[in-house]
Amino acid sequence: TAYQVSCSAVETNDGTSVLMCFEDVTPIEQIGQMRRDFVANVSHELRSPLTALLGFIETLQGPARDDPAAAERFLGTMQEEASRMERLVKDLLSLSRVEAQERVRPTDPVDLVAMLHTVIHANAPLLQDAEVICSLDAEVDKLIVPGDADQLQQVFTNLIENAVKYGGDGKTVRISVRTDEEDPSLRGPSAIVEIADQGAGIDGVHIPRLTERFYRIDNHRSREMGGTGLGLAIVKHIVNRHRGRLRIQSESGQGSQFQVVLPRDLPAATA
Ligand code: ADP
Repeated sequence: TAYQVSCSAVETNDGTSVLMCFEDVTPIEQIGQMRRDFVANVSHELRSPLTALLGFIETLQGPARDDPAAAERFLGTMQEEASRMERLVKDLLSLSRVEAQERVRPTDPVDLVAMLHTVIHANAPLLQDAEVICSLDAEVDKLIVPGDADQLQQVFTNLIENAVKYGGDGKTVRISVRTDEEDPSLRGPSAIVEIADQGAGIDGVHIPRLTERFYRIDNHRSREMGGTGLGLAIVKHIVNRHRGRLRIQSESGQGSQFQVVLPRDLPAATA
């Protein structure tokens, strides 16, 4: 616990008294610590590709100058490192944009079924490369929720990409859509989109921390797969902005299920 202490002298008829004020500033301290950790993480994440790039530039200017084959190889790696930085900056911008809007609930009508078809179609090359079959099982032809279409598209894209990245090559990703008329978690009607993979699953100790920025179970694997460690943090913030819930169920060796639960009713002020 952190306290801020202030003292002042108070004149009374009996003389001078000292007034000491103890203010609990723990939450402010925690926010400050989180901010410092975040800046340190971002700096670290940006520094490693930058160091690699500078190293390759030096090699290209020196030893590899007259070796076209080596130069070609180095340029390929440099492109990968630069793309990694680009993805990171893109995700950081998405995250800060969503955070800035978090208090304003989006209300555009979004058809989740049509959107999932679009996202699966857009990810066809990724699915094909990993030889993953993606199925969509929707209880209804159309399911409208109030939302922000671009952001919801990002939620499903991130979850499908993760299911492919960590779900194992040649396996199946099952997407299902259903409704609940009296969802206890939202105290009202909800739309539930589930993305289930057949991968290695996630040990229970990691689940509560998965949506923290830069939290990765296997750093090496995430980087190898082109991950920034921000995908699920972005998902959580977008779902929060929609006043929804993100549920994660998984067991080691049993695959994982990510459920996005969204309210179907409009906020009272705009209904
Ligand atoms: P990343 O860019 O590393 O994929 P995410 O925020 O999307 O970042 O995910 C955080 C971590 O959660 C990942 O590094 C991975 O360890 C774990 N993870 C996410 N989705 C799955 C999944 N479907 N199966 C197993 N692990 C997963």
